[in-house]
Amino acid sequence: MKVSKRAQAIPPSATLAVSARAKELKAQGRDIVAFGAGEPDFDTPDYIKDAAIKALKAGQTKYTAAAGIIELKTAIAQKLQKENDLRYTPDQVIINIGGKHSVYEAMQAVLDEGDEVILGAPYWVTYTEAIKLAGATPKIIQTDRTNSYKITPQQLKEAVTEKTAMLVINSPNNPGGFTYTPEELADLAKILEGTDVMVLSDEIYEKLIYGDTKFVSFASLSEDAYNRTITLNGFSKTFAMTGWRLGYTAGPLEVIKAMGRLQSHTTSNPVTFAQYAAITALNDPLAGDSIEKMRLEFEKRGKYMAQRLNSTKGIQCYEPTGAFYCFPDVSNHYGRNINGTEIGGSIDFAKALLEQANVALVPGLPFGCDNNVRLSFACSLEQITEGLDRLEKWLS
Ligand code: PMP
Repeated sequence: MKVSKRAQAIPPSATLAVSARAKELKAQGRDIVAFGAGEPDFDTPDYIKDAAIKALKAGQTKYTAAAGIIELKTAIAQKLQKENDLRYTPDQVIINIGGKHSVYEAMQAVLDEGDEVILGAPYWVTYTEAIKLAGATPKIIQTDRTNSYKITPQQLKEAVTEKTAMLVINSPNNPGGFTYTPEELADLAKILEGTDVMVLSDEIYEKLIYGDTKFVSFASLSEDAYNRTITLNGFSKTFAMTGWRLGYTAGPLEVIKAMGRLQSHTTSNPVTFAQYAAITALNDPLAGDSIEKMRLEFEKRGKYMAQRLNSTKGIQCYEPTGAFYCFPDVSNHYGRNINGTEIGGSIDFAKALLEQANVALVPGLPFGCDNNVRLSFACSLEQITEGLDRLEKWLS
């Protein structure tokens, strides 16, 4: 059987692999605490479901324009203007089949063979694969725990070469749980001035920020930043709509048009009635309350999880400022033998913890940080307490 070199080179998603093994063990009757989830444990709010049902009943069941319906593109342009201080025409917006699709399509639209794309580690696993699928090469900046794993202007300056085509910024960050301050982003933006480097700013966790954290869209930093930035966002996290598969991208007209051409020959339009429901998701007066309820809950859990992890021997974790992940450094335990298993790195750590103590988390290695593991707090406080009790006991 022939399988292309391109497809052979893609590893399965590491984050999905852990969830799959945890599900398998659960099905065998094991009581697993799962910290692997990359999605809110909240259901899509009823007002959005009702809008989808209404759209279905009204016959919104046919193809739309490949890049999405004008009403949704307009609603997104208005959202970006109102909330993010960004001026885009509806033509500068494309609706994709989830943010993951937005990432893939943006890379396909911009990158050529031989291009380099700068990424800070930790990075979301999909970026590197999407970069390689577009024929380009990821150029990873190793960040430091003492800088909350963020890229510094100096590091960016040193990484940019004539081959650099793009910088990916993901703030709030998966898996790091950190958020760049507006000042830090402005300093990075300054480094790019005078270059041809584009920026893909993945803002999918924008509404999930904690404490006094401020969110700012990269493209809103300056005219220069606006001209080079592709802004990516979606409905999965903010509206707990992961299964609806709706993401969007806004940016320079030529890039969005190129994405539209690609989309017209690959997926065609995102699900029609879901697009109609998405307009309601953005514009309904209930939107703010449902987001805030979820945000407050995540804030409480993230604080608690980080405190518990920090008070566990040999673990260092800063409090997350965004998204729903803690990303502790557990490397003090590497080199140990726990119940007969050598812990050489994050993969051993995650595997042994799951098999021996029934706790599922995600190893840091696929995110480019083998010293760390990722724990999602998109689960109840009771589960967090139980899982961290087990982790503590297992390590001692
Ligand atoms: N960007 C980041 C950083 C993510 O973590 C995710 C989801 N894991 C996405 C984009 C894409 O989400 P979706 O495809 O569900 O819109």
